[in-house]
Amino acid sequence: MLHIEALNKAFPSAVSSEQYLARVAKLVSPLGFAREHSFAAVSVCRDELTQSFPDLVARRWDQPFSLGGLGALPSLGRTGWRAALSHVPSDHDRGHLIVFGLPHIGIDPEGNIGQSLRRHQDQVTPTCGAMAALLSSLRNGFEPQTPGLDDNEADRLRRIVDSQSDQLPDNLLELTRLAATAVNTEMWAELDALQAHTEMDIAVFCGIQIHLPDEVDFVSPVASAFMGSDGIATELSI
Ligand SMILES: [Zn+2]
Repeated sequence: MLHIEALNKAFPSAVSSEQYLARVAKLVSPLGFAREHSFAAVSVCRDELTQSFPDLVARRWDQPFSLGGLGALPSLGRTGWRAALSHVPSDHDRGHLIVFGLPHIGIDPEGNIGQSLRRHQDQVTPTCGAMAALLSSLRNGFEPQTPGLDDNEADRLRRIVDSQSDQLPDNLLELTRLAATAVNTEMWAELDALQAHTEMDIAVFCGIQIHLPDEVDFVSPVASAFMGSDGIATELSI
């Protein structure tokens, strides 16, 4: 199974999405995140391949608020974040928010990372078109905008991912790791800007969502942290 070999080599700490969420639940439960009072918000890419993740989250914590745009970068803006935070249920005057941010990548049947064989297609395509376009434009420069069509999400993804590192990523895998770090930074920047910790306990989990041929999706953890009323983010070991 070439794709399993590639998965183990590139993502030695990856577990199935279900196992990942079980670990999250086990971590946050002693921190006071009761299942019935916790509110989840999920940022995955817009791709149809990613949608199994919010479904699994919904089974544990009810339907999550959707944060994501291309590349799983939250694209809802300040107004959207305010709305998400205002939906968090209160338990003894304090809410419990679990945030997920997961850029995605696929592994094809030959074990190539960054492409997927989609349903009823006979050729592989880039798993994340946004990441593939970003890598190409970082290497070759940016195409001029087509008049009348904006590309706001891709532009913002480029700006925020690019600000994470001075080094040009070598490949899609490196770029996706960088994107996961960027998504994590962005989550905390928004939550901090809105002083969310004054009203709720927050746990943020970022990683890479991995699609395999004919298998459940996997998640490779990248960053996990908790913030309580003191406003100090503490790393969680997942
Ligand atoms: Zn994508």
